[in-house]
Amino acid sequence: MTPRADEATKRLTWLAGALRAPRILESAGRLADQARDAGWSFEDYLAAVLEREVSAREASGADLRIRAAGFGVRKTLEDFDFAAQPAVRGQTAALASGGFLLEARNVVLLGPPGTGKTHLAIGLGVKAAQHGHRVLFATATGWVARLTDAHRAGRLPAELAKLRRYGLIIVDEVGYLPFERDAANLFFQLVSSRYEHASLILTSNLPFSGWGSVFGDQTVAAAMIDRIVHHADVLTLKGASYRLRNRGIDTLPSVRTTTDHTEG
Ligand code: ADP
Ligand code: MG
Repeated sequence: MTPRADEATKRLTWLAGALRAPRILESAGRLADQARDAGWSFEDYLAAVLEREVSAREASGADLRIRAAGFGVRKTLEDFDFAAQPAVRGQTAALASGGFLLEARNVVLLGPPGTGKTHLAIGLGVKAAQHGHRVLFATATGWVARLTDAHRAGRLPAELAKLRRYGLIIVDEVGYLPFERDAANLFFQLVSSRYEHASLILTSNLPFSGWGSVFGDQTVAAAMIDRIVHHADVLTLKGASYRLRNRGIDTLPSVRTTTDHTEG
């Protein structure tokens, strides 16, 4: 290396550190060789270096947001077998672009157990994180526990304000357990505080007509459903549990010939 190149590398090392962009150092050197070989303009070279940094930052930001979301298991839309739920293929593809988050629209996934509601909710959550949105996932029971704690500590408004800074909150398994009156009320506050501000994805085994018994009150349930579905896409999943597919459980015993142990 010439003394001048050596000097430039030293300056770059310092500058990349000051910008907290250590990756620039590596790409600057590598791309400089490529630029010289291919006769790039200075502008092309600078853009290429900055592009590497921006995409690396986006990827690591998405990764942090996915890890912070609390998904439990990582499921992706790419892993979802839409042949099992062809009716929601188009709707899901449209939602995957993340436009609903910019409009604070909601998504409701309804259907019997094992039809992929949680899988799709997490898959959409992963996409949202990749589009730059902060995401939090929990079951309805988990959300109520969190809000109850905040309420008892006298910081429910602060907690709701904090949650509004998340572009997406996923509430899994609404209706799996019925709520006490206080819990239903807290849940209603969560829904109200996000209404037209930020998105919710909810999953439920019950149709909306069954939500009155979950929230212990038809009026509360109706007011909540009204806010949720005013701006929402409702995806209705159908059929038998994907977990039980090919296990012969929903077919005749005489044709129970294939057993698939690949998924639990
Ligand atoms: P639900 O929440 O509706 O009860 P899940 O999303 O938990 O169902 O799905 C149950 C299991 O089956 C999960 O492991 C999920 O990944 C898988 N699964 C369900 N539907 C599909 C599908 N269409 N393609 C791939 N995996 C699926
Ligand atoms: Mg589920």
